Amino acid sequence: MSSRLIAISNRIPIGANASGGLVVALREALAQSKGIWIGAHPDPGAGEERLEPVEGGAETRMAFRLTEEEMSDYYLGFANSVLWPLCHRRVDLVDMQAAYERSYRAVNARVARLVAQMARPDDVIWVHDYHFFPLAQELRALGLTNRIGFFLHVPFPSLGDLSVLPKPDDFADWLADFDLLGFQTQGDVARCLEMYRADPRAEFMMDGTVKMGSRITSVAAFPIGIETEDFRAQAQEGGPNPFGREAPEWFIIGVDRLDYSKGIPGRFRAFGRYLETRPEGTRPCLVQIAPPTRDTVKAYQDITNELESIAGHLNGAFAELDWTPFRYIHRKVERAKLARLYRMAEACAVTSLADGMNLVAKEFVAAQDADDPGVLILSRFAGAAEDMSAALLVNPHDIEDMARAIGRAFEMPLAERQERNAALMEVVERTDVAQWADAFLSRLRKCPPTLFAPEPGDAGMKSAG
Ligand code: UDP
Repeated sequence: MSSRLIAISNRIPIGANASGGLVVALREALAQSKGIWIGAHPDPGAGEERLEPVEGGAETRMAFRLTEEEMSDYYLGFANSVLWPLCHRRVDLVDMQAAYERSYRAVNARVARLVAQMARPDDVIWVHDYHFFPLAQELRALGLTNRIGFFLHVPFPSLGDLSVLPKPDDFADWLADFDLLGFQTQGDVARCLEMYRADPRAEFMMDGTVKMGSRITSVAAFPIGIETEDFRAQAQEGGPNPFGREAPEWFIIGVDRLDYSKGIPGRFRAFGRYLETRPEGTRPCLVQIAPPTRDTVKAYQDITNELESIAGHLNGAFAELDWTPFRYIHRKVERAKLARLYRMAEACAVTSLADGMNLVAKEFVAAQDADDPGVLILSRFAGAAEDMSAALLVNPHDIEDMARAIGRAFEMPLAERQERNAALMEVVERTDVAQWADAFLSRLRKCPPTLFAPEPGDAGMKSAG
């Protein structure tokens, strides 16, 4: 029997019906090892030094509570107003405040204490995402020698951008305390290695691992996927027409949290440009689903206002009494309905300016009818583009390029659509989310053990490879 898995992510599923690829993949891995999933409770508390069980799942879920202040300073502050823009190449949006950094460090230190209370020596610990960059360092400081892996769901920051952090060198140290660093793409791996190459303290070993002090860390890409079979089945299931009597003649779909990294304003402008040049008599629509997210942060309020203004302006310019070319839904749509919409759409536009992977691209492909598939338009800046080169790849900074791709998608002959879809489907099947979790965990379990945790006050981390 393999050792127990402890997974840590900022969000944990609440309730029995929580769904989504990551939830299912982690659940399976946790069930196999009788593991524990630790994350933040959605409701604030007093920042207690204890974990509380969360009911509803087959696996054991334990939650810690953030205080209101930590929600604001750690979660919306350092995680989402410093690290998120840093990772998404928007350092101009970084809102650096000393209280944010303090709170981030304090929450990571508390979560480490809570994990340490639960962890047995042979447990394998899998930490998820940018909320917990320093967690391994905190765990090692508490004496844990467990195998600790980290998966970054968002892009790895560019080397130059790291200077925006209060103490940029700390970042390399934080990551060095993990045994395995997993990223979405080879591009992310390359950026991480570039950071270590620029750090005089780092050494590159013959086997490709990185040595910092006496710590040895493996770095590799594990492109995340979706529950392909399940999603395909949902798309095929049918059900009522989500448009009712208002079905567009043909349409292109966009599905994104309303985030500035998703390039939605450029997509709208490109569709407007396409409308100017479209074949006479055609009445295409752009159906954009963009639920709100982090909407107390100013950068998110700004993008919401910008999009509303563009959609209003373009509809004003192009709409007829019986045709609305931009349908913009600022609400979350449930997955089963999304699956049906993807299958009905002639095309899907993913125009992210930066994106870890972009699961919408994979969901759209999985939902297609192989005999009459729609066309995926995919930003070169989304992690998905690394493997999904059979999509129409576009530059999201170039409105004309995107407008041309929209025209090509609508005119593409059936044989080419089928060929591209088959190639994309092969990628989506190969990178299924269950395989992603297996690949990461089996690699983590093979990492050489850490033999000694650092003594208190010992700056040189003692470990062995
Ligand atoms: N999604 C959803 N309903 C919506 C909008 C999005 O269920 O109204 C889901 C979508 O199907 C996908 C996820 O949210 O599974 C978004 O993942 P992605 O990797 O594309 O972007 P992220 O939001 O993680 O940056």
